[in-house]
Amino acid sequence: MSSPYSKIKAPSVQTIDPHMLFDSRPIFSHSTTTSGPCRIVATAGQVGCDQNGVFPTDIEDQLSLAMKNLGRALEAAGATVTDVFKLVYYIVDYDPNNRRHTKHVQAFLNGHRPATTLVPVPALANPEMKFEIEAYAAVRQEALREVDVVVVGAGLSGLKAAYEVQRAGFSCVVVEARDRVGGKTWSVDPLGQGKWIDVGAAWINDTNQSKIYELAKSLDLEMVVQRTTGKVIQEDLTGDLGLFDYGGTPAQAAEKNGIESLVFIRELAEKVCQTVDIHNPVQSGADLDKLTLEEWVKSNTESKTAMATAKLWTRALLGLEPSEVSALFFMNYCKSAGGLLQMRSDFKNGGQYLRFTRGTQSMSLGLADLLHSDSVILSSPVRRIIQTLDGILVSAGRGELKCKRVIVSVPTVLYKEITFEPPLPQAKAELGKNNVHGYTLKVMVSFSEPWWRKAGLAGAVMSFVGPITTTRDSSNDEKGQFSLTCFTNGDAGRKLSPLPQKERFSAVVAHIKRMYGPYVDVPEPIAVTEHEWFKDQWAQGCPCPASPPGVMTQFDHALRTTHGKVHFIGTETAYEWKGYMDGAVRSGERGAREVIDAFNRAKL
Ligand SMILES: Cc1cc2nc3c(=O)[nH]c(=O)nc-3n(C[C@H](O)[C@H](O)[C@H](O)COP(=O)(O)OP(=O)(O)OC[C@H]3O[C@@H](n4cnc5c(N)ncnc54)[C@H](O)[C@@H]3O)c2cc1C
Repeated sequence: MSSPYSKIKAPSVQTIDPHMLFDSRPIFSHSTTTSGPCRIVATAGQVGCDQNGVFPTDIEDQLSLAMKNLGRALEAAGATVTDVFKLVYYIVDYDPNNRRHTKHVQAFLNGHRPATTLVPVPALANPEMKFEIEAYAAVRQEALREVDVVVVGAGLSGLKAAYEVQRAGFSCVVVEARDRVGGKTWSVDPLGQGKWIDVGAAWINDTNQSKIYELAKSLDLEMVVQRTTGKVIQEDLTGDLGLFDYGGTPAQAAEKNGIESLVFIRELAEKVCQTVDIHNPVQSGADLDKLTLEEWVKSNTESKTAMATAKLWTRALLGLEPSEVSALFFMNYCKSAGGLLQMRSDFKNGGQYLRFTRGTQSMSLGLADLLHSDSVILSSPVRRIIQTLDGILVSAGRGELKCKRVIVSVPTVLYKEITFEPPLPQAKAELGKNNVHGYTLKVMVSFSEPWWRKAGLAGAVMSFVGPITTTRDSSNDEKGQFSLTCFTNGDAGRKLSPLPQKERFSAVVAHIKRMYGPYVDVPEPIAVTEHEWFKDQWAQGCPCPASPPGVMTQFDHALRTTHGKVHFIGTETAYEWKGYMDGAVRSGERGAREVIDAFNRAKL
């Protein structure tokens, strides 16, 4: 079958090594040139500070951050390293005998050789700054393409929508910002041994998540049941450890009546979420939208354990604190998954029942493979959608497309990255401005054996202290893949985020040792893997945007409405399993149906 991926043409940048000039390899070339129509990208000088403007004192860390920041600046503008034709860098205290920048620049360029200029300088704009780098890139532009439908984003929702639109006989292209399909489904093989792990979504079930399960089965993908054997470790507010049965209730709490309070708030939340109508949440729960979840808990109990429990829910489910999310949003989110208990369950019918041997990205890759040839354009962020009487012009990183309908699959918080002409209706734009995206960091810690099982432990933890909130046994025994999935989210994760990666990993491993150490010897991991979705240009958080109080009341009605001939999908817009892969697939089907119906109506 022919490839769904639009052929990447030869790079637009060529390097030139003139005769009789000193050989400039391996990093730079004396000159570069471009061919074909190109879009020029220039970056400002990038320096080695974090998002808070903090410069690491270690120059190596500064160099590494500067290169990372340059990569981000290029990515946001839809350029890749091979598009760079000129680099200029400025170095304070340059020592030709100790060229510390070389390995960082070389790693960044990965064999690409732009024209470069090194400028030793006495100082930069800020005394802490020791290195600054700027780039110029030329991004090859494809000829204008005309199709019936353009889908923005090749996550599960966008791919499913494209598949259905093509199946109905209309031409459709998916334009994706990243250099891969799958969005928040992203499976990696850190050891290169076919032991796949998911740094994004991992779990589904085979009953009430019928849409995603149907997709997985149709692609003939192998799944494993989540292991739920053994005891769960609980770390209480005081740091005291205890054990309880998988799927059960912690046995002890430092606070008097703590366990009763935990059960009380859990039962109450379950009862209240069941009263919300997912098709009309605002009408069924208007009062709940006046409160944050934190205020809702406080209005029902003063128990610290109950509040810590609610914190665990919002962290685990949304990467947020209870103070950041409307009680109505939270209850509706739970109800969309059948209820809080079902959503949190790792058993049959629960949200975390099955995992994929080859990772969940295999579903996205499988869907992409079902599309017609040249249907997926990668590394091409959409920056402008212009609707005119003559059709819609979609302006993307690698060229422009003309179409009759557009399906936008990006989360509401990313609407700001796209200029809509005419502008989005106010209510829709406000959803994008006011919704918040959580900090969920999934650190995958791989071991050579499942040592926790020796002590009768399940590999599952719930901690009221952090930095880890929960862990799960994410092993695949048959493949010899043994790992703990460690979630650090909400404020606990945000505290770790500014740390250099090695310190973040150390904090996670130290917490594993603190929790498991009293029960069993904890060996050193063989690999630690993460992806910080919050810092990712094309996610800006995860797993699903949430609304603070008042936002649903005012603007939820606009979540799924079309804007002229532009349709909106994405897991956030699903009624069922909102925020999950199942919701993504459902929303993709809805978007496709809207477009196909519109085309069919136009034929009448
Ligand atoms: C750490 C983590 C754990 C999770 N765990 C689970 C789980 O266990 N089970 C579960 O069901 N779900 C889980 N989820 C949620 C699940 O991943 C999502 O619900 C689902 O993948 C969302 O699909 P989507 O198509 O709606 O959005 P996305 O996957 O976000 O797809 C949107 C696509 O649009 C692209 N894009 C963005 N902006 C532009 C632009 N301007 N131009 C072009 N393209 C653009 C993005 O790159 C992306 O590919 C998890 C998510 C994360 C991050």
